This record gives sequence, C-alpha cells and structure tokens, in this order.
Amino acid sequence: MKLTILGSGTPGLSSTQYGSSYVVSIGSDHMMFDCGPAATYKLLKLGIAPSEIGYLFFTHHHYDHNVDYPGFLLSRWDTGYGEVPQLQVFGPKHTEQLTTRLIDPEAGAFAPDIQARINHPVSARGFQQRGGTLPRRPPTAAAQDIGPGSVCAGDGWEVIATATSHVQPWLESLAYRLNSAEGSIVFTGDAGPGESLIQLAGGADTLVAMCHMPQSDVREEERDSNLGTITAGRVAQEAGVKRLVMVHHTRAIGAETLGAPQPGGAERAVAEVASVFGGEIILGREFLEIPL
Ligand SMILES: [Zn+2]
Repeated sequence: MKLTILGSGTPGLSSTQYGSSYVVSIGSDHMMFDCGPAATYKLLKLGIAPSEIGYLFFTHHHYDHNVDYPGFLLSRWDTGYGEVPQLQVFGPKHTEQLTTRLIDPEAGAFAPDIQARINHPVSARGFQQRGGTLPRRPPTAAAQDIGPGSVCAGDGWEVIATATSHVQPWLESLAYRLNSAEGSIVFTGDAGPGESLIQLAGGADTLVAMCHMPQSDVREEERDSNLGTITAGRVAQEAGVKRLVMVHHTRAIGAETLGAPQPGGAERAVAEVASVFGGEIILGREFLEIPL
C-alpha cells in the first residue's frame, strides 16, 4: 500500500502547493481522496491514468477539494475507450447533485461537449480508433451522498467515515479511514478537533491531518472548524496514531504562496506539532510518496 500526496496546499495561490488530493494504491486498486486543483494533471505526472482510479472520496465540497472533478470525470470518460469500470464516488450531501449537474448528457454543464463528442463524425471516428465501439455512451459515475459509517470495501480493504466540524450548515464534512491488511490511513479533510475524529483515527498507522497554520495564527472563531499545529498534534496524540502527515498548509508553514513563504515556518510548525505528539511527523508536499 502506498500513499501519494497530489495536493498539500489550500485555496491560497501557490506555485508549489495547491488544494487537496491524495492517491492510495493497494495492489491493483487506486483510489483518490478529494480532487482539488489540477489533480488529474498531477495524477498523470505519477504515471496513473484517470481510468485507473476506481474510487473517489470527497471530504467536503469546498473548491480546493473538488474543482478538478469535471476534468477528472471527462478525461476518464474520453480517454477510457468505453471499457472503463464504473467510477464509484462517495461524499457528503451535494456529491450526487454535483455529479449530475456536471455530466448529465441532457442538462449537465458539459452536455454540449458530451453530445459533440458522441455525435460528431470526427470525434466518433477518433473514439473508434482508440478502441471504442459505437454507439458511444455518455459518461457516468456512481455517485452517492453518504454520512458516517461503513462506506465501501474492496479486495482486502474497507473505508469508513465520520462526520467532522468545518463550515456547517452550508457544507457537510467527512473524515475517512482506510483499513487494509497492510495498515490504516485516516484523512481528516478540513476539520476542527473533535471526539468523532479522535475515535475514527484511534490507533491508525498514518493520520493525514489538516495543519492549516501555526497555532498562534488560529483565531478564536476558527478553533472549531480548522486544525492548527497544536490541535492537529493533539488529535494525533489522543488517537494514538503512529505517524502524522501535515497537509493543507498556508504560507506560514512554507507553501510558496505568491509572495515569499515565511522563512523557518516549516521548521517551527513541525516543532510545534512535536511539542504535543510523540510519533513520527512528516511535512506533506506535492508528489511526496509515503510507503505504508
Ligand atoms: Zn480546504
């Protein structure tokens, strides 16, 4: 099992870190958690085709976690030669609606493109040349709005979810735990600290945790909706995880947001986490591969 970080940043514009997305590979199964900016392009840079991703899990529907979903869905369909297994998509409320509004062949935002690719003779011929058989079918995805509990299972793995606190009531948020014979990974998504998160992460091998900013920068009104260095470390410590991967950084932790990152910010942030968490700490970066 291998975890690769595609996006370790925030909505803040950065040349080095942008949005959230992660890939976990177990045997021949590839699954993606969140689909933030340029996730499809980053996936290709890893040598993974969109058609190889069988499962997509959304933590919530802020755009830094889902904005590449149309690009991912359409390229998965358009380059998949018509023989690609159905994509399974899970996420909180709005996941089904978002999917329909993007790729419904009659009413979706991309319906004109989809109809042109299905019906124009040049597009149809190109599809045949890539191995497809006419008539070409429109893209589909098995999208489900889910809540806490068991989500799905595959060959030797299972995913469960819990509700977290972020920006309710406008958006619901979920954290996910992936269990397999080779280990367990928990993704906090964007979340404040809370008992449900600590329970989900209990004894996990790896916790991929929002670590938005140094704790001193977390304003009073943000404490229930975001994790800073100390609160992320405390969640990891209380849950008894072996390893914390810090993600979702602002420039105070070293993301090269337009304008210089703050010198020494990453080192200070890691030291703050280490002051409350006794396990291994990894500072997340784009394309960082973490074997499990
Ligand atoms: Zn976010």
